[in-house]
This record gives sequence, structure tokens and C-alpha cells, in this order.
Amino acid sequence: MVILLSEIESVCLVKGEIERGLLPASKGEGFDFLTPIGYEIGITKVENGAKLKGRVSCSLSLPCSRCLENFSLEIDTTLDVDLILKPTFEEKEIELISDEMDIYFFDGEKIDIVPIVYDEVMLSIPIKPLCQEGCRGLCPTCGNNLNIEECQCNKVSYTLLEEKLKSFLTRQGDDYGSPKKKNITIKKG
Ligand SMILES: [Zn+2]
Ligand SMILES: [Zn+2]
Repeated sequence: MVILLSEIESVCLVKGEIERGLLPASKGEGFDFLTPIGYEIGITKVENGAKLKGRVSCSLSLPCSRCLENFSLEIDTTLDVDLILKPTFEEKEIELISDEMDIYFFDGEKIDIVPIVYDEVMLSIPIKPLCQEGCRGLCPTCGNNLNIEECQCNKVSYTLLEEKLKSFLTRQGDDYGSPKKKNITIKKG
């Protein structure tokens, strides 16, 4: 989806869908597109570039970072980027701006919507996606998905810990409790 800036008078609205097959990496990225990416973007011509504002939405399938089960994530995000003329090699100061994620360089004429929309989707994926807010994840001992079924591992280790703690506290009491008792007896005598 390439738009030519020279064909835009001052503002134009582009609307459509990007099919999954057209996306840079729908495979091997750890997620899949369940739907095409829908977009509705207003392009405004500005001096030396263009401003793009609009909405991007799609549905992804990806693994939960806690329980590793695939779930579908709805993306519905606002796009707000600036396109500026590609700098020449001498203009090092301008080159630094490219580190900011909402600025793209272009040749002053061709605006390719696809990578911009794709990046917007990528940026909207949480670093640690969760299938549900309170996902309980996997048991570190047996690997059981705790959302589906409770296992006994946690309980066993808790009981063991409790017992150890109890015996530790009892011992502590013996060591430090006796001298106090002695004090009391001395006072009487
Ligand atoms: Zn989960
Ligand atoms: Zn377990």
C-alpha cells in the first residue's frame, strides 16, 4: 500500500486492510495474525514531510508469558507518526532522530503504509503478554497449568516449609528462653 505524496492535495484519509500474507514476518515471530490489520489513517502534508494519524487494529494469537498457552490478543491502537525527508550523510544530527519510534524517514514522495502499520502493531504487543490478568501460570515443580487444574506440589512444599520453620522456632526458644527462666528463679532465691 504505497501512497504518493504528490497526489495528496493537503489531507487524505486512507482506509483498508493489510492481508496477513503481505506482512513482513507473520511467521517465526512467536505470534500469528488471526485477522488482517485494519487501518484508518489521515495523512496530512506538511513542510518536508507528512503527518499520519489514525487507528490500527487486528487480532493476534500469541503465547501467554506465564502459562505459555496461546490466546488471542485484540490490538486497537492509535497511530501518530511523522514522516520526514531522508537526511543526507552529512546531516548526522537529524539521523539521531530516527531512534525515536514515531518518526520515519521517506524519500519525500512514496509513503508505504505497510511497515508503519506493522510497527504500530508490534509496539502494541505487551512485553509480557498475559492470557488473563490473573493468570496463575505454570507450577514450577510439575509444569501443570494452574489455570486449568490445581496440583499438590505447592501444598506439599508449603507444609514442609512450615514444619521446618516450626522446629527452627522451637529450637530458638530453647536456646534463648532458658536464661530468662533462670533469672526469675534467682530473684526468688
Ligand atoms: Zn496465561
Ligand atoms: Zn505442580
